[in-house]
Amino acid sequence: MNRTTYTPKDFAWTAWTVADIKKLAPEILAEKKARLAVIKKINPEERTFENTVYALEASDHGLTETILKIDLLQNVSPDKKIRDTAKQTIETIEKQMITVEHDPKVWAALKDYEVGSWREERKYLEAEDQKLFRDMFLEYKRMGFDLPPMKQKHLKALEQRLAKLSNEFRHNINAHEDHIVATEEEMIGLPERYKQGLKKDKQGRYIVTLAYPDYHPFMELAQSEAKRKELAEKFLKRGGAKNMKVLEEMLAIRAEHAALLGYKTHADYQTELRMAKSGDAALAFSLDLLKKVEKGGKADLEELRALKCEMTGNKKAVLHFYDIAYYGNELQKRRFHFDSEEVRAYFPVARVLEGTFKIYSTLFGVTFEELKGFSLWHPDAKLYAVKTPKGEVLSYFALDLYPREGKYGHAAAFGIIGGRSTEFLGDDYIAPFATMVTNFTKPSSTHPSLLSHSEVETFLHEFGHIMHCVLTTARHSSQSGYHTSWDFVEAPSQMLEHWAWGKKPLALLSAHHETSKALPASLLNNLLESKRHLLRYATLRQLILGIFDLTLHTKKNPPEPNRLYRDLVKKHAGIIMPKDSLFPAGFGHLDGYDAGYYGYMWSNVYAADMFTRFKKEGVMSKKVGADYRTWILEKGGSIEDIELVKGFLGRKPSNKAFLKEIGASK
Ligand SMILES: [Zn+2]
Repeated sequence: MNRTTYTPKDFAWTAWTVADIKKLAPEILAEKKARLAVIKKINPEERTFENTVYALEASDHGLTETILKIDLLQNVSPDKKIRDTAKQTIETIEKQMITVEHDPKVWAALKDYEVGSWREERKYLEAEDQKLFRDMFLEYKRMGFDLPPMKQKHLKALEQRLAKLSNEFRHNINAHEDHIVATEEEMIGLPERYKQGLKKDKQGRYIVTLAYPDYHPFMELAQSEAKRKELAEKFLKRGGAKNMKVLEEMLAIRAEHAALLGYKTHADYQTELRMAKSGDAALAFSLDLLKKVEKGGKADLEELRALKCEMTGNKKAVLHFYDIAYYGNELQKRRFHFDSEEVRAYFPVARVLEGTFKIYSTLFGVTFEELKGFSLWHPDAKLYAVKTPKGEVLSYFALDLYPREGKYGHAAAFGIIGGRSTEFLGDDYIAPFATMVTNFTKPSSTHPSLLSHSEVETFLHEFGHIMHCVLTTARHSSQSGYHTSWDFVEAPSQMLEHWAWGKKPLALLSAHHETSKALPASLLNNLLESKRHLLRYATLRQLILGIFDLTLHTKKNPPEPNRLYRDLVKKHAGIIMPKDSLFPAGFGHLDGYDAGYYGYMWSNVYAADMFTRFKKEGVMSKKVGADYRTWILEKGGSIEDIELVKGFLGRKPSNKAFLKEIGASK
């Protein structure tokens, strides 16, 4: 297969001006319409896979890449005008593209093909081509084109109402403001640096808001139990009573929407295109895991309660919801007594990068080379080529590691150019390009950028997404890279996080930034030990949230959300939540991750299971790495995810490894 290679000219888009970007929305939409028009015109009896299904897939070629480039600039351009224009352009395209794609004639074309030559062609089409058709057919079917016109109209009205409610739900959470005031004495436990960042009221008391940078340190460090209680209770009211109303209506509309399309529940609708396949399967998975984790999770909490008894001198002390973060932090300090700042000194970014490259190139049999003479959106962003051992270019990626004004504030991988064949059955392949965006501490004149251990883990995770993008060999771009099922997409990266917790890889990833010395054994051991800290409780909590979400979206008449949440937490964690709390109103995941929150644990279970092969055959094993590349990274969404995992493991997957990993197996 011949791969395209890129020259600096191919990155000219990184210097797009406001005027350049403004032109793109009408161009993209016109081009898409023109391409669809050609497909719609074909006579039913002349429809083939290539002129209909593949043509629909190809109707995005080039256009998706352009949209993703604009989206990247919206997130990383140093120029506010560019970011703003890019944002508006993306919004315009998204809004109008729905109307363009929501086309009954495209659906008719797919149906004509289904009753026509599909019956013959399916006998010899490649498996990934068949999957492309089935997925595409389903996606269009889910738009409701098969319904009578009146019902289609109703469906659309429901979708519009849902979009409005979803905005409202998010807005009510984001706009919710509240705070507590705390005297100097009530701030005991909090560092000076934290206090200096807070505003004060007229009496000179500190104002602690519900914003995460205020909230989390306070809950972990404030000695004052009364103040922690006050702040946590306010936090549990985010979104307010009005969001409970919004949620109630959202749940009802989602259920009606699913029923109209012929699904038993909204969870069935949501999971149909995912690995779980049904709401019941997702719920059964979560409940089964819960049964196995509950005891361990409660034991973790009992340990915190014992610590509270010891620290307060009250033998009958009760562990409250506002105590968990505080005693969790205390226990961690006592048990693993290491200073995370001390650890940081061993992870200068250059060493982490070098180590990551070494690990991934050993495992996946490729090399990475920084390319000079290419200019990207900012001097901090560096371009690399991924090459075969013979020096042939496979793909490209960029790293944009440090924060700057207006830049995307978290860590993420952006796939920009998806790998794909240039033609239906061609030998030429478009080289993928992806970008990793993070916000690690910038190097200063005296210090290099030093990463915390959790940032090292993030590095390995996000770079795993990059590998997924750039090692793909899938023929169709909608199936390439990380275009897997939504509940599987994190698993390949979660699997690669394990390298942050192994002695061998850590030796490659760390070296003191001044002395180049390795992590001292005691520090290393403490660090590795700390992985399991409250892990069973953390898992239990995730499962409870997943079950809460699924229950709301699988029951015909779901229980009142607030009561459901309180009951679940009480029953499975033994923690009493205040009666007047409004947790569901502030649980933003109910919009966007609806009937999807289970996915965090779902993918973690597969990640842990996949790691068993490396654990057994060696974390630096070229053989296992090559299998991982072939089965998991290269295939993307071209076959069912479960088949990927089975192919790699050579057996049916199980949750045993996960339970063992978190310390919850018998
Ligand atoms: Zn991720």
